[in-house]
Amino acid sequence: MLPMKRSRKTKFEAFPFHVKTGDTVFVLSGKNKGQTGIVRKVFNEKGTVLVEGINKIKKATRPNPMAGVRGGIVEMEAPVAAAKVMLYCLQCNKPTRIQHEYLADKRKTRVCKHCKAQFDA
Ligand SMILES: [Zn+2]
Repeated sequence: MLPMKRSRKTKFEAFPFHVKTGDTVFVLSGKNKGQTGIVRKVFNEKGTVLVEGINKIKKATRPNPMAGVRGGIVEMEAPVAAAKVMLYCLQCNKPTRIQHEYLADKRKTRVCKHCKAQFDA
């Protein structure tokens, strides 16, 4: 018998994230604790999200004339762990947990726990 191959699947794959691209999120920890930003990208396989203006890093880049990139130090955002951000409700102006509800046409939507505002309208 051959040894079983270890699956490449990560533990994050099975769980859909509580945040999506375009959501406003509240940062719970780290150097940008307490700030809000808009989600630019969600990395499901890594369990991280890229948030606008959050977790800025300075990166030294080499010039690449072909791509029109000038060398030097570039300030950019680094992804943060998805567990460190909470969805921010713009209706009640506070971070919130979500609840799933079904619309009349059987579509699933994320709803604010406090004020029942829909996030996927
Ligand atoms: Zn709310």
